[in-house]
Amino acid sequence: MVVSTKNKLYLNFIGGNWITSASNDTLKSIDPANANEVVGYVQNSRKEDLDLAVAAAKKAQNEWKKLTGAARGQYLYAAANAMEKHLDEIAECATREMGKTLMEAKGETARGIAILRYYAGEGMRKVGEVIPSTDSEALMFTTRAPLGVVGVITPWNFPIAIPIWKMAPALIYGNTVVIKPATETAVTCAKIVECFEEAGLPAGVLNMVTGSGSVIGQGIAEHPDINGITFTGSNGVGKKIGQAAFARGAKYQLEMGGKNPIIVAADADLDQAVEATISGAFRSTGQKCTATSRVIVQSDVYEIFKEKLLEKTRDITIGNGLREGIWMGPCANENQLTTVLSYIRKGIDEGATLLSGGERVTHGDYKDGFYVQPTIFDNVTTEMTIAQEEIFGPVIALMKVDSIQQALEVANDVQYGLSASIFTTNIGHMLSFIDEMDAGLIRINSESAGVELQAPFGGMKQSSSHSREQGEAAKEFFTAIKTVFVKG
Ligand code: NAP
Ligand code: MG
Repeated sequence: MVVSTKNKLYLNFIGGNWITSASNDTLKSIDPANANEVVGYVQNSRKEDLDLAVAAAKKAQNEWKKLTGAARGQYLYAAANAMEKHLDEIAECATREMGKTLMEAKGETARGIAILRYYAGEGMRKVGEVIPSTDSEALMFTTRAPLGVVGVITPWNFPIAIPIWKMAPALIYGNTVVIKPATETAVTCAKIVECFEEAGLPAGVLNMVTGSGSVIGQGIAEHPDINGITFTGSNGVGKKIGQAAFARGAKYQLEMGGKNPIIVAADADLDQAVEATISGAFRSTGQKCTATSRVIVQSDVYEIFKEKLLEKTRDITIGNGLREGIWMGPCANENQLTTVLSYIRKGIDEGATLLSGGERVTHGDYKDGFYVQPTIFDNVTTEMTIAQEEIFGPVIALMKVDSIQQALEVANDVQYGLSASIFTTNIGHMLSFIDEMDAGLIRINSESAGVELQAPFGGMKQSSSHSREQGEAAKEFFTAIKTVFVKG
């Protein structure tokens, strides 16, 4: 059993067993809606624990890889069923660990289940193609081999979907896995791992080691027996992981930050655009990598759009995400809250006009939580920090432009290129946007956040290491192509 409910203790999962770290030390996971509330204690692991997990994964790999894709798929179907059984418990745990509303956490758990089923089916789909050889007596085709042991490093903002969208394809293509979840949401990850255990996954195929990023995360990047590393998180950490992986010749994949724009054209349906802006910018307290943070509006409709946006923002109810009727929860941790508040201060100092929000919420029930008001800045220009850097909080930068061409220039004037959205009824504007916007996800008349699990996901520019996750695209990272030439 992973947890003793009395002392809320969670262990590492290595070689099919729940075990204590060699450190005998734990890290605390707390509720951002009430910092006095401990959700659980997870292992503060050391390098020795990681070594054990990697050895278990290495040992299990050959047997796992020899199974048919269909047989591996059966384990994923069984894990999906287990997750469905525990959906409420997993979702509630995610809300308590990182603050998103229960409705969002339940949606994310359902998505995790759907991802598992999608990749379970992938075990029966094609992995190669026949290529005509110039030799008439030869058969030439491609097949795919797993990488071996894959290290998975995940952030706290999608504590269910991201670990699953990395682990499920890793497993279905025959790799074994060592996951190090964000410490902030390690209890939620333990509950997901329990579902794989319940599914009867063979020992060592999936291992979880919790602990600090600098020890276990960096340890994964540097480990000689880890053949591939898939990471989602901040740019600073991603770059370090990429460098360590490159130095030893391991394959790596990095999904990082965004500074996602929404363009509102003069011909847009403004009510629709306001809805999408509110949802994209403030859902999950702005802590989605695809969250809307810059709203670029054509001058003809700027004032009216602004009024509508302010009016809708007033309806947002802030509070503990477990409670009915709450629309926006707290920031996921104190660090995040401090970062958001310091960006708000920078916005004011650099001359943007604070239109709405901007303050921490501390009265009454809010006093022990990491709450911040939904915040809107007016008169933001491209060189300002709040127009350039990822805030990862509920903060909108409103920017005025005269034309769609100028809107595109402003939208592209950042180092990131994850997701971008335009609201317009003009087909010409749509086509320019598709062609000229530098982003991995192009969204038309739809919010910047929101992805479909069967489609490729990833960013351009500094937002990723230029590979794609999810859907069929995941195959590119989690396998190596073998080109086979057979002559009779
Ligand atoms: P983070 O600080 O980079 O942490 C991500 C993961 O890396 C955590 O598991 C963390 O462990 C670990 N880590 C920390 N330092 C490390 C090191 N030196 N070496 C190896 N691993 C290390 O990011 P976060 O604050 O959790 O998440 C927010 C960021 O993720 C934002 O920038 C957001 O844009 C990005 N994000 C991107 C996507 C996308 O798909 N593009 C999706 C979601 C989030 P600890 O938790 O123990 O520190
Ligand atoms: Mg927490």
